[in-house]
Order: sequence, then structure tokens, then C-alpha cells
Amino acid sequence: MNTSATTPIRVAVLGAGGRMGSEACRAVDAAEDLELVARIGRDDDLQAVADARAQVIVDLTVPAATEANVQWAVEHGIHAVVGTTGWDDDSRGRVREALHGAPEVGVLIAPNFAIGAVLTMRFAEIAARYYDSAEIIEMHHPRKLDAPSGTATHTAAAIARGRRAAGLGPVPDATEQDPHGARGAVVDGIHVHAVRQQGLVAHEVVQFGGTGEQLTLRHDSFDRISFMSGILLGIREVAAHPGLTVGLDGYMDLD
Ligand code: NAP
Repeated sequence: MNTSATTPIRVAVLGAGGRMGSEACRAVDAAEDLELVARIGRDDDLQAVADARAQVIVDLTVPAATEANVQWAVEHGIHAVVGTTGWDDDSRGRVREALHGAPEVGVLIAPNFAIGAVLTMRFAEIAARYYDSAEIIEMHHPRKLDAPSGTATHTAAAIARGRRAAGLGPVPDATEQDPHGARGAVVDGIHVHAVRQQGLVAHEVVQFGGTGEQLTLRHDSFDRISFMSGILLGIREVAAHPGLTVGLDGYMDLD
């Protein structure tokens, strides 16, 4: 029973039967200031979200479905907290455009809801200014559909920003032949290596190299529960942040 003085925020979880979605349902159910009003799976009609008078959707579905879900929420004046990966500049741009027609609606797209992962991205941007070399190794369970991870892509962008601010050029690399792609993907000029292995959840290593030294930042999510405090923060804050916010740090006072 809800005993809080304020009216609980009405939440619908999309992808409710999935690994993240089921954990999010448990977390929302356990929070006194939130009410889980709809659990939506792949074959369910989104109209059920509107019928349940949800104020916030939490999207933890698949890259192929997430943009349509968010567009639907914006059209219906419902805030969206999005953990699903696979977003790019084009899809984010289309959401920004849709939000012009619904200026009161907030959308949070967070590549990683774990507080330590958000801090790793911020620390990486700071460290990037001081090191010639930087590479990212992201490691996930083998059922993950996309590579590299959204977190790694955002970390690469943060490192690139740090390097630009310091006037650093390309990372040194004399490789001339790499027929098997051993140097990994290159995102924003930063090499990213994706490992998929049984037993892992979500892990990231950011490795910086300078003359005679190395700095390693590492974050490990051992359990999906590590994402829940960030998801709950997103649900509680999204209405106060109209427009599109990319990254949970937009709701955190990191400066
Ligand atoms: P998952 O176990 O495969 O769950 C996805 C769920 O979405 C499945 O139950 C799937 O149903 C359902 N689904 C598919 N299309 C749908 C639709 N149109 N409407 C509603 N539900 C739909 O995957 P997961 O491990 O939970 O991950 C979900 C997403 O979150 C992935 O993109 C993953 O990369 C991301 N993720 C984000 C964070 C973060 O912190 N931001 C952390 C971990 C994971 P079926 O089983 O019927 O296909």
C-alpha cells in the first residue's frame, strides 16, 4: 500500500518480460512513490499504456522497437525513460523534432543507468586530455544484440571531446595491415573492442597510455539491479526535464 503523501507517478514498463524489464517492474513495484500501471510485451497494444493513464514509460525493449515506442509516447504526452540501446544521431534528431510539438514532454535516453558507468564516462572525458593513447574494451553477455555497446559509443564520444579540448590529434597507431579487424571498431577516432562472453553482465575498461604510464578506469555491473537506482532517478526526474536529455548525467549534479 502506498503511504506517501504525494500521488504516486504512474509508470508503464515496455519490454516487461525481458531481463531488464522484469527487474525494472520489481523496482517500480517496490518504490512507494511509483505505481506500476502497465507491463507491456512485444505483442501488446500500446493503447494499454494510455488506457492505464501512465505518466511515464520505461522502454527496455529492442533496438528495432524503441524509436517507435518513444515517438508514440511523445504523441500521447507521456514522458519516456529509455534504456534500450541502438540510438544514433538520426533517431535522436527525429525525437527532438517530435518534441517541438510536445514541449512539456521529457525524454531521457540513457546508454547506461549504473551510476559507476556514468561516472566512468565523465572521468574518461577528464583523463582524455592528458594521455596520447586511449582505447575502450566493453564486455557483455552473449545475448546482447548490438555492438559496440551504447555505453562504449558514448564513452568514445566523451574521450573525443576531451582530446579536442586539449588540442590532441589522432591516437598514435602504426598499424598498416589488419585483415581480421584485430584493432577493433573505431568510434569518434577511438578504438573500441567488444567482448561477448558467458557469465558477464555489463563491463567497461577504458585504458589510457602516456609516456611511461597507464591509467585504467574500470566499471563492472555484476547484476542488473545495478541499473535500477538510475532508472528510478530517471522516472522521478523526467517530468522536470522537458525535451530530450541524453545520458543520466543530465539529471545528476556532477559539476
Ligand atoms: P531482453 O531480455 O531481450 O528483453 C527485451 C524485451 O523486450 C523482451 O521481453 C522482448 O520480448 C520485448 N520486446 C521486444 N519488442 C517489443 C516491443 N515492440 N514492445 C514491447 N516489448 C518488446 O533484453 P534486455 O537484456 O532486458 O535488454 C533490453 C535493452 O536494454 C537492450 O537494448 C539492452 O542493450 C539495454 N540495456 C540497457 C541498459 C542501460 O543501463 N541503459 C542496461 C542493460 C541493458 P520477446 O522476448 O517476445 O522478444
